[in-house]
Amino acid sequence: MSTTPTAARLPASPVTGSIRHTVLRYGYAPLLLLGANGAAVHLIASNAPRGWLLALLLGAVGLSFLVEHIIPYEVEWNRSHGDALRDVLHAVVNEVANLVSLATLPLITALVTVADLWPRQWPFVLQLLFALLVFDFGVTLTHFASHKLPLLWRFHAVHHSVKRFYGFNGLMKHPVHQALEMTVGVLPLVLIGLPEDVATALAFCTAIQLLLQHSNADYRMGALRYVLALNEGHRFHHLKWAGIGDVNFGLFTHFWDCLLGTFTADPKKRFTTEELGIGKQPDYPTAYFAQILEPFRTYGREAPRRPGR
Ligand SMILES: [Zn+2]
Repeated sequence: MSTTPTAARLPASPVTGSIRHTVLRYGYAPLLLLGANGAAVHLIASNAPRGWLLALLLGAVGLSFLVEHIIPYEVEWNRSHGDALRDVLHAVVNEVANLVSLATLPLITALVTVADLWPRQWPFVLQLLFALLVFDFGVTLTHFASHKLPLLWRFHAVHHSVKRFYGFNGLMKHPVHQALEMTVGVLPLVLIGLPEDVATALAFCTAIQLLLQHSNADYRMGALRYVLALNEGHRFHHLKWAGIGDVNFGLFTHFWDCLLGTFTADPKKRFTTEELGIGKQPDYPTAYFAQILEPFRTYGREAPRRPGR
């Protein structure tokens, strides 16, 4: 049935819009955490071509941008600050590095595994959750160390130079920092025989987590904000002042932050653009290759410190 011109001119009902926003606000994160990750687990467990995983990931990235525009936390953070192409470059380089690591995993496992203790008898989802928790531990510790040790901070600083907080920030990392985080995170798993399919699922979940953790979508998770390391908590981590920003290091959970004494939360806190970045390095390079070279530029001089320390 065709729509009448009169009906076509009718404005959208604010009630309908409000319901749609509410559904997105509370449904978006579960959709990615359970829906996208669940679909990925299904594809991997059923040996589907890996191209389907890539399509699923690209769909999640597209959805992320869409939701950020429908329920933005800060409208200004959706606009490119001349950084959009650079962030795509960071994302492509770091994801290709992840794919290469996955492709070489069988060789790495053959060389590094000291005892094949992997619990293959467990259901696949439990194996993945186990891998996530162990990986989260290694990544959290490396991240923590990267804020405390000047040499490591050199390579992590690029991630903190962002002036807006949106989905692609998660993949905006110096390749050296990413390689270090991945190595420490995966090593305990590889030592006991991490299977390739669990590693693939882990890589997919990590990409989804980074999208959600840095998302500019004003989604809500209720009390789960105290358990899962999502954007509400991670905004504190991007505050530009040392000490204040040295919190919430976790990738998947706040569990390890609670043990380190670095967990913080305040549901009433409202973040602004002026609070993001690196306090003592406001002029950190913004171009891709300048950011890649920056950690080496001052080599031989005193290594930069986390501002204020
Ligand atoms: Zn950090």
